[in-house]
Amino acid sequence: MSARCPNCGERFSLRESWAFVDWLGRRKVWPCPNCGLSLRWSAFGHRLIQSATASSGAVSVAVVFDLINASAGAVALLLIVAAIITGGTLRRLEVCQVEGALPRGP
Ligand SMILES: [Zn+2]
Repeated sequence: MSARCPNCGERFSLRESWAFVDWLGRRKVWPCPNCGLSLRWSAFGHRLIQSATASSGAVSVAVVFDLINASAGAVALLLIVAAIITGGTLRRLEVCQVEGALPRGP
């Protein structure tokens, strides 16, 4: 789940990569501290993580209210964890093209 700037190769730690997500879990544009380009998470991987996180809540609620049995819930949660890991693997930082903003060179 390592994040790298596609322009200059600057590495972001897991903690730093939280800068690209707002408090609702939506993608946020954030400048690379090294080259200043506006970056954000690629849509596909991030949406996979977001929807998997949301469905884990739904499955938990369904188990608690006995709408599905616990073993079906456990299988569903395993699939959700797999989806989150896949999303984390596919998620990449991409350059966000902002109209009128010229990227500063490295
Ligand atoms: Zn950079």
